[in-house]
Amino acid sequence: MVCVANQKGGVGKTTTTVSLAAALAELGARVLLIDLDPQGNATTGFGLRVEEGAPSIYQVLVDGMAIRDARLSTELANLDVLPSSLDLAGAEVELVPAFSREQRMRRAVEDVRGEYDVIFVDCPPSLGLLTINALVAADQVLVPIQCEYYALEGLGQLMRTVQLVGDNLNRELALGGVVLTMYDARTNLSQQVVDEVRDFFGEQAYSTVIPRTVRLSEAPSFGQPITVFDPHSRGSRAYQRLAREVGERLGLPVAAPQNSALDR
Ligand code: ADP
Ligand code: MG
Repeated sequence: MVCVANQKGGVGKTTTTVSLAAALAELGARVLLIDLDPQGNATTGFGLRVEEGAPSIYQVLVDGMAIRDARLSTELANLDVLPSSLDLAGAEVELVPAFSREQRMRRAVEDVRGEYDVIFVDCPPSLGLLTINALVAADQVLVPIQCEYYALEGLGQLMRTVQLVGDNLNRELALGGVVLTMYDARTNLSQQVVDEVRDFFGEQAYSTVIPRTVRLSEAPSFGQPITVFDPHSRGSRAYQRLAREVGERLGLPVAAPQNSALDR
């Protein structure tokens, strides 16, 4: 299970989770995407919509509903989504007095783990109880970093939280890598951030860098992941490349790369 986290908003968490999940499903992996953000952008990113009160991640975490009863299928055969709704906005507070409140997600995923090759969680932009739940359940944290000023700001806090959860609640947790997003080849700044992040994270930084493209920003309003919306676009190819890298690191049974030399 891979938790896509960064407490900064707008760095590309949802775009990365949706696009990676779709690209890996297209490569043959069985994928579940858990939308853990009350904004529900990953849910709508697949053209799904869940009214308040309807089964969603909220019922799973707060009422103990089985994931099987709340997940939805998508137009991609191998990809299911456990949707979010605005109900989730209250969960952070409602869970505070709950028994084993940090373990809710971990328990919930237990009975579906075997059905999927990988489970992604799209985290909200905070390090609160929802994100902690994802970190406790995950094997890996994937951190998107936007190529802009202050890119590294806040990462210390994120890494300390990962460390704390790793030391106290989930010994299996590891950093699964960082992904540079919204790279703009026309600016020196983007390249500076890439260099800085590579210096800091070394091998942990994926070699695929995600470009800033208009198509990537348009895809959500059509309710489709970029690999469906515009499969041959630059953004789609970048996420397909990243999917192969991630698949390899996770040891997923994904199809061999095609035309990888041409893509580069
Ligand atoms: P987060 O989930 O971290 O808040 P999002 O993935 O929602 O970030 O991205 C923030 C905004 O930037 C969204 O409007 C999204 O469509 C847009 N965006 C994300 N990645 C790219 C990209 N590579 N190129 C262009 N726009 C992007
Ligand atoms: Mg998001």
